[in-house]
Amino acid sequence: MGVMKAVYNISPRPLRTLYANAYGLNNLVRRRRWEALLREIAPTERMDRDRQVERVEAGLKAIIRHAVANVPFYAPYAKLAADLDTRGAYRVLAELPVVDKDVINREPQAFLARDRGRCVVSRTSGTTGTPFYVHVDRRSFLLGDALWWRRTLWAGYRPADWIARLVGDPIVPLEEPNPDRPWLISLPERRIYLSTFHLNPDTARAIGGLLRRRRPAYIMGYPSSLGILCSFLKDTDFRMDWDLRNVLFSSEPMHAHQEQVIREVLGAEIRGLYGSGEKVISAAQCEAGNYHLSMVDGYLEGQFGILPDIAPAAVTTLTNLAMPLIRYQIGDVIGTRPHETCPCGRTLPMISPVITKHEDDIITPSGRRISSSAVVWAFIHQEISDIRKAQVIQDDERHVRVLLNADEGTYLKYRDLLERSMRKVFFDEIEVDVVRTDHIEVTQAGKSRFIINKLKTGN
Ligand SMILES: [Zn+2]
Repeated sequence: MGVMKAVYNISPRPLRTLYANAYGLNNLVRRRRWEALLREIAPTERMDRDRQVERVEAGLKAIIRHAVANVPFYAPYAKLAADLDTRGAYRVLAELPVVDKDVINREPQAFLARDRGRCVVSRTSGTTGTPFYVHVDRRSFLLGDALWWRRTLWAGYRPADWIARLVGDPIVPLEEPNPDRPWLISLPERRIYLSTFHLNPDTARAIGGLLRRRRPAYIMGYPSSLGILCSFLKDTDFRMDWDLRNVLFSSEPMHAHQEQVIREVLGAEIRGLYGSGEKVISAAQCEAGNYHLSMVDGYLEGQFGILPDIAPAAVTTLTNLAMPLIRYQIGDVIGTRPHETCPCGRTLPMISPVITKHEDDIITPSGRRISSSAVVWAFIHQEISDIRKAQVIQDDERHVRVLLNADEGTYLKYRDLLERSMRKVFFDEIEVDVVRTDHIEVTQAGKSRFIINKLKTGN
């Protein structure tokens, strides 16, 4: 991957387009596999509740049995697992310990199954910059991707539709600060890959022109990036003159100010997706506006009203045998709605929209806006470990401080690397100081924010 990315970054544009199209062809093959999987699980969308409860219980039993037999951390619970048939999986589950990223990071090997076969190692940031690695077996990874794709199918996708996407695809190297065309187009899968990293008034104008020419049926992206793009477009002569079916977002919650500018500029229905890099649970917003859990990937305590909700939410995988996360606190507070029904007709359990903290953008002197997800990207694409917490603070137009809660040795090891990667994401317009600290301020909600921009009013 590292080598591929390096090759990609030094390649001229036509070659990059070729890569994108090859990647697109590969995606078409994967899409066929996703759709086969989705046909298999389609009956679960409208299954009656008793059968859903049974189905999930069978999955929980299998995961718990597998964990006590193959995962060192769960070996001491073998006796408890012996009661699964007599006491039922929900009750046994409730007696297993709750774990979170910190607990697992203390002894990550103890959470890996023996004989786990080929895995995808998914790296997530935990929003505070602390890296966390999850080993996901191939089937769970494929299912996770398929469920993300299902959201687009629910939104009425047809094979001839174009989709523009504005997420973390590093499609234009950061060495190219002001590309005329901050995108790549993949013909086989009819995708427009837009660069999240290069958003400024000029690139936004160019993107607006491209969107009007290509007329995508969907625009998907991070809420922060979509919000930035739309706030720039608002000041141009950009007008919606085609039928944009939906704006699709994921990876972050959408905040009111983002939703407002997106609706104003793009004027389409907005649909969200809640998912996680850990591939434990996911939920997609249906045409009635409600979030339905996928149910087949993982179990959220409280989803059926059998076990109570806990906060932060505890989730258990139903599929990932490589590193079975059990009662894993994913870091978000998720409200369950076990007794409500949805007018869309799907019986999949519902949750309230997931609310997490709001992160600021970084604004450079030339007027670029770097979204929180782009900053996180710069962070987690370094091989960084042993950092307890991190925070990025923009003090004024030209200065950003990166606070690292880490010991002296770790700090010295990563300081220069982080300074370089952060400057690069800010296109060398901002001075970056990486500072060691033992204390990172926590907000009233009990969470520390990752990015604080003191330039903006209200901070
Ligand atoms: Zn629904």
